[in-house]
Amino acid sequence: MKVLKFGGTSVGSVESLLNVKDIVESISEPTVVVVSALGGLTDKLIATANMAASGNPAFREEMEAISLRHFNIISNTVKEAKRADTINKVSQLLSELQKIFEGLALIRDLSERTLCVVVSYGERMSSHIVAAMIEGATRHDSLEFIKTEKWFGKDIADQKLTSTLISKEFANPFNKAIVPGFISTDRDSGAITNLGRGGSDFTAALIAAALDAEILEIWTDVDGFMTADPRIIPEAEVVPFMSFIESMELCTFGAKVIYPPTIYPVFHKNIPIKILNTFNPTAPGTLITDNQLDNKFPIKGVSTLRNTTIFTLTGIDDDRMSEISTRTLNALARHGIKIFLLNHDDSPNEYSFGVAGADADITARQLLSEFAPELSTASISAPIRKDSLSTIAMVGENMKERSRLAGRIWHTLNRDGIIVEAYSAGNSDTTITYVVDADKADRALELIHGLVFHE
Ligand code: ASP
Ligand code: MG
Repeated sequence: MKVLKFGGTSVGSVESLLNVKDIVESISEPTVVVVSALGGLTDKLIATANMAASGNPAFREEMEAISLRHFNIISNTVKEAKRADTINKVSQLLSELQKIFEGLALIRDLSERTLCVVVSYGERMSSHIVAAMIEGATRHDSLEFIKTEKWFGKDIADQKLTSTLISKEFANPFNKAIVPGFISTDRDSGAITNLGRGGSDFTAALIAAALDAEILEIWTDVDGFMTADPRIIPEAEVVPFMSFIESMELCTFGAKVIYPPTIYPVFHKNIPIKILNTFNPTAPGTLITDNQLDNKFPIKGVSTLRNTTIFTLTGIDDDRMSEISTRTLNALARHGIKIFLLNHDDSPNEYSFGVAGADADITARQLLSEFAPELSTASISAPIRKDSLSTIAMVGENMKERSRLAGRIWHTLNRDGIIVEAYSAGNSDTTITYVVDADKADRALELIHGLVFHE
């Protein structure tokens, strides 16, 4: 049994959908096919909902364009025999969506909950189209079996319940099962939720893990993981193999190939992931597995996490370091803020970490409130915040053995006038990170990629 996931660009046009059809129909074994919304539609739905809620009547034209796009795709991909039925199903969803937009325009308000409902229509519609297009396919509704729970105000997958429900849903033999990605329902209230932007990958991973699939194939619009973003480094190459941890680190540090949570469920079951290109289906892609040693690329890639903010707590008494760091981690975890640690070998009285720029304000507020007692007696200094940075991560196994390369990179960056604001090598054996000024990030990537792959 295989699980295939097709992203937005793969299901975004008539031409690409015909590729999807060929790819899926050429597989003889039972296959679950998880689909995203038509490319760009989720953004469009969010923008249109905001338009409606702000009273801008142009939302009606947007709605019209969304409808036309779906009808056009149906007429050019779905066979005559199933066309009327598909148009019917999609029209019903479109008319619900239209009513919701009209409602938003009347109420002039858009809640998080409502936005979850609005964006769910993307995958609900695309999955009907793909199910009608593929020979012998049946549609399975993920709203019934992908369940989330609330965790610090966020919807996160309830993996145990979801796994049980998936096993039940797919207990009977099937040939091709089409599933909308991304969307889910709250396990307690039944309200429509989702797995976060890019979450269709995660839907596919949850299904692959629950059904013990032989492989999870992520079909996208690039040839696989590359040694760097090819838009910045034209000579970047496709990496044929990497480990689960390496792919996880690259995605955490900005490689947009897969949604980072995707890797965990399949990693635990040792199910390989293959990244493949719908627009170049014969390319070998990238295989993510722990069973393949790859000597050609001991370092798998260099990625950039843009918009990083660094916080530093200074003047910490040695004896209180573990207490201060624990309290920091707890305060941020309570708000679901993800951090990456930075080592400060040369300044034992400091504690530094990086967060995404989007989380910087809330992080600052949490630090001020957590350490209010210490700040009022000046027993630690006010947290120092540095915005507008980028984090460049070099990922590969046995990074600890690469201190000479790491040192050379540091010098090369310095020679080029790029100051390394923070550096980290001690926390994992897979990643070394350099934090630099955001507007120097592309140049730094170029220099690092050059040193790693071309010298
Ligand atoms: N359609 C959703 C998004 O654009 C989920 C996905 O494509 O994975 O974020
Ligand atoms: Mg994606």
